[in-house]
Amino acid sequence: MAERRGSDKVRVRVLRQDAFDRKDTRRWEEFEVARGERATVLSALRAIQRAPRTVDGRAVAPVAWETPCLEHACGVCTMLVNGVVGQACTSLLDVVAPKGRVSLAPLGKFPLVRDLWVDRQRMTDDVKRVRAFVGYDGATDALRESPAAQAERLLLASCTSCGACLEACPQYHQNGAYVGAAAINQARLVGLHEGGALDRGARLDALMGDGGIASCGKAQNCVEVCPQGIPLTESLGSVARDTSKRLLFGWLLGARR
Ligand code: SF4
Repeated sequence: MAERRGSDKVRVRVLRQDAFDRKDTRRWEEFEVARGERATVLSALRAIQRAPRTVDGRAVAPVAWETPCLEHACGVCTMLVNGVVGQACTSLLDVVAPKGRVSLAPLGKFPLVRDLWVDRQRMTDDVKRVRAFVGYDGATDALRESPAAQAERLLLASCTSCGACLEACPQYHQNGAYVGAAAINQARLVGLHEGGALDRGARLDALMGDGGIASCGKAQNCVEVCPQGIPLTESLGSVARDTSKRLLFGWLLGARR
């Protein structure tokens, strides 16, 4: 059979489940959409949403997924496209469905809400766990940051909490302790802030705890899949060096600094 590249139709297989506690409803459903010029997985999902009918003619409930920004800014449309982590808004059908077929599934490392929609709350919880926030009240009045210091932080601060780095990480598991590259990058970012530096000792102690930096297996998958191009392996290395110094010399500085 001839390749379907250039065909005006694409078959979209979607792994569906009606609710987090309804594994009995897990199933694949197949839809057909027009390819369209520069069409993406996101535009295919929107077409399915407008007319949710499977290829065998059954009217079904619209597919659920998160899609607030539509333009590669928020990260929440991250899912498995042909089994590989990707974002619906930037996955061109010409690239991911050259033969006229593509499969979509939810991220597997987060609790499922419904269909392609997952709950990333744990990412926020893990940021809190490693104290990757500026706890200093009134920092903007008292602290002066150079443009160079701000520029260094800009790329690290572009994380959208999409979860791609965690999905790709062999050490990160839904019920495991490891916080993963996103939280550790956030800890590095906060440590570069003058206000965040005030809390440095407690943050490093948290990063040396259960599920912290020692759990990184150095697979480096995280940096390969990050859609923001954040140098995650640099962040992991930087935090590993800081925690090693803390372990060796922290007693010289006192318990909390
Ligand atoms: S570090 Fe990159 S891949 Fe990980 S959550 Fe942030 S934007 Fe997504």
